[in-house]
Amino acid sequence: MGQRFTYCCSGCGYAVLVSGKVDVGETCRTVTISCATCRELSDVVVSTDPFKVPPDPVPDNPRCARARTRTHVTQPWTAPGPCPRCGTTMGDDVLTIEMWD
Ligand SMILES: [Zn+2]
Ligand SMILES: [Zn+2]
Repeated sequence: MGQRFTYCCSGCGYAVLVSGKVDVGETCRTVTISCATCRELSDVVVSTDPFKVPPDPVPDNPRCARARTRTHVTQPWTAPGPCPRCGTTMGDDVLTIEMWD
């Protein structure tokens, strides 16, 4: 059962709905990334087999879903962590929780 949380930045007001960690759902395994190119947090799929043992490792630079012709600069992000826009630590305030599968 995957979960996502709304994280809100107290520094710049940026709000985003992501899991904030490596998460496992029915059909995939996801990780939250911070993309320095988009200045966004997002969840990306790292494996389509969530029950694989051992699990596929999380890459150092997970591929940003918005990357097309150029490579975006990303890194895995775990809450609480720095806001991709202003660097303020976000993740302490969780507004809503959503089940995604
Ligand atoms: Zn911010
Ligand atoms: Zn990006």
